[in-house]
Amino acid sequence: MSIQTMAKADPRDTERIVRQLRAARAAGCDIARVAVPDLTAARSISRIRERTGLPIVADVHFDHRLAIEAARCGADGLRVNPGNLGGPRAVRAVAEAARAAGIPIRVGVNAGSLPKRAGRPVAASVSAVVRAALDMANEFFRCEFFELKVSLKAFDVPLTIAANRAFAAASDLPIHLGLTEAGPPLSGAVRSAAALAPLLLEGIGDTVRISLSGSPAEEVRAARTLLVCLGLRKGGAVVSCPTCGRTSAEVVPVARRVEHFLEESGLSLVVAVMGCEVNGPGEARAADVGIAFGPRGRGLLFEGGVVVESAPNRELERLLMCRLRQAAEARHG
Ligand code: SF4
Repeated sequence: MSIQTMAKADPRDTERIVRQLRAARAAGCDIARVAVPDLTAARSISRIRERTGLPIVADVHFDHRLAIEAARCGADGLRVNPGNLGGPRAVRAVAEAARAAGIPIRVGVNAGSLPKRAGRPVAASVSAVVRAALDMANEFFRCEFFELKVSLKAFDVPLTIAANRAFAAASDLPIHLGLTEAGPPLSGAVRSAAALAPLLLEGIGDTVRISLSGSPAEEVRAARTLLVCLGLRKGGAVVSCPTCGRTSAEVVPVARRVEHFLEESGLSLVVAVMGCEVNGPGEARAADVGIAFGPRGRGLLFEGGVVVESAPNRELERLLMCRLRQAAEARHG
C-alpha cells in the first residue's frame, strides 16, 4: 500500500514544491502529485522528480495538451478528471502520450466535478460516481490503453465507501483511495479514517492519500498512522493513557515526545506511557517497551514484558528514551 500526497505550492515555485515534497518523503511518502495548470508546471516535473527522488504524478484538468506535455517531460504518471478532460479525441491523445512515455494514467473522479450528461450537471450519487469512472476507463480501453488506476472521491463518507465498494465489485482496476476536501488536519484525518478504514480492511485500495488543509508531510503522517493502525504498514505506536485524576506525572508531553521520536527514527515499536498503577503495568508489559508512573513518586520501566527498572517518576522518561535511542542506533547500524 503506497502513500501519496500532493504539493501545495504555486507550480512556478519549484523551490517550495521541492521543500514540501522532501519533507513528505522524510515522513514516508511514496508518490507525489503536482498540479499542472500550465506548460511551465509541466516542464518543471523532471526537476522536481530529480530533486525529491519521488515518482511524480501530473495532475491535469481542462486541457489535455498539458497531460501530453507532462508525459513528454518525465512525469511518472498522469491524473486526469473525466469531468473536464474533453471528449474521446482528448482521451485518445492522452493515451497515446502515456503509452509513448510508458506511464500509467489515473482516472480521478470527484463527486464535485462529475461529467455533465446532455449538457447538464450531474448530482453526486454512488451510481453517478461509479459510472463516471467506468465510462472513462472504457474510453481508454477503446484506445487499447490499459495501464489505468481509478479514484472515486467525495467529501461524503458513506458515498465514498459505497462508491469504492461498487467499483471494486465491478472492475479489477487498481484503486487510489481518498476522501476529497476532507478538512483541516484533525477533523480531516478523522473523517478520512472513517471512510478509508472499512475499505482498507476489506482489501480495497492500492494507494492512499489523506487530503488535508495542511502540509503534504501532515497528510503523509496521517496516512501512515492510519495504515499502521490497521496493520497494513509497519510503524511505531504510542500506547498512552488519556490521564485522569490519578495521573502521577506529566503523561501528555512525554507521550508527544515519544511519538515524535518514533516518527523521526522510523522505529517500529509499541511504546507505552501510562499515568498510574491502575492500567499502567498491564499496558506497559504488553508493549515492546513502556513506563508506568506510580504512586509515591516511583514507577516502573518495562521491556519485553518484564520490569527492568523501578525508578523515581521523574527519571522514567530519560530511561525510556535511552532504551529507544539504543534501539534506533541498532536499527541504523
Ligand atoms: S492509567 Fe491511570 S492515570 Fe491513566 S487514565 Fe487510566 S486510571 Fe487515569
